Amino acid sequence: MAEVYFFDYGKGTSILPGLEKLFYSSGMAEVAAPGARVAVKVHMGERGNLTYLRPPIVRKVVELVKAVGGVPFVADTTVLYPQKRFTARDCLETAAYNGFTPETVGAPIVIADGEDGYQGVSVEVERTVDGCRLREVKVASAFLEADAMIVLSHAKGHLLSGFGGALKNLAMGCTTKHGKAAQHASHGLGFDGSKCDGCGKCVEACVYAALRLEGGKAVRDLEKCMHCCNCLFVCEKNAFYWPEGCRDVFQVYIAHAAYAVAKVFKKGRMGFLNFVQDVTSRCDCCTTAEKAVTQDVGILASSDPVAVDKASVDLIDQAPKLAQLPHDPPDILGKINGTNSLIQLRTAQKLGLGSLKYELTTI
Ligand code: SF4
Ligand code: SF4
Repeated sequence: MAEVYFFDYGKGTSILPGLEKLFYSSGMAEVAAPGARVAVKVHMGERGNLTYLRPPIVRKVVELVKAVGGVPFVADTTVLYPQKRFTARDCLETAAYNGFTPETVGAPIVIADGEDGYQGVSVEVERTVDGCRLREVKVASAFLEADAMIVLSHAKGHLLSGFGGALKNLAMGCTTKHGKAAQHASHGLGFDGSKCDGCGKCVEACVYAALRLEGGKAVRDLEKCMHCCNCLFVCEKNAFYWPEGCRDVFQVYIAHAAYAVAKVFKKGRMGFLNFVQDVTSRCDCCTTAEKAVTQDVGILASSDPVAVDKASVDLIDQAPKLAQLPHDPPDILGKINGTNSLIQLRTAQKLGLGSLKYELTTI
């Protein structure tokens, strides 16, 4: 049974002092032992998004790490698709636009997979379950230079994984472009040539030059394709599609990638803080400002990424809803996104990454 500590926003206490109390009572202070170089992993939001974690929250964690003698740096990675976080330079510009600078967070900001997003180290996935074919995952270099990591995750929904929390942040957020592509390849993007009118918009939109027109139809070169799905989003004819069941397979892969990232750190050198607030049905990579679907709940802390995510899913299910939803618990975020979010958690548990059973201690 894993321990999960909970700071309840419903108690009306100020949030930053609550975060401090949680940091010490959950044992997070031990993760950032004196002298340890501590990666504070955070998704700093796509441009246009407004529900990413606020910079003062990140600054507070940075200050807490420093207070116990750790040496923090704030880290994120580039993304696969050509939005405003495609390169490290884009990431830093967008981070600044969203309020994250070394001055505001109180620590250096490092884009962990380098300027183009390919700087990483292969970590073997020596054991697989649930049909996963990943054999290695490229973990972003800067994480291998850290002694410890505190993962700050915004608990919310995700178009492919249903729920996105600590596991998703480890898997997709701590890997290089190749690491992300290997996970995204699992969804097996489909193409229905009968819908394609040869407009060429997808060819122009593919930054990996993996598409061409042949005989008036788009043709994908699978050797070059990085599975970013930009073509799916730009095609107005819906010629590209995600096959039935692909979200379930995708979650199996993200659980394995999370397992590979966690292998990089010694036992006891990872801590997870999930912020159950601004709970949108989609993730912080979205360029639109979405409305939350539930009331804000609080902050969860644990050394177990499976337990902290399961507790987040459960608390989101129990929270008062802000809008009429066509779905009932359990797993409202999974249902909204057409999957069962427990798949990623069950697979991660099978891999020994953590436990679905937890004891919730409200501080
Ligand atoms: S954008 Fe759609 S319709 Fe246009 S070429 Fe690509 S697949 Fe065909
Ligand atoms: S073909 Fe589509 S999925 Fe593949 S890299 Fe190009 S835009 Fe991305």
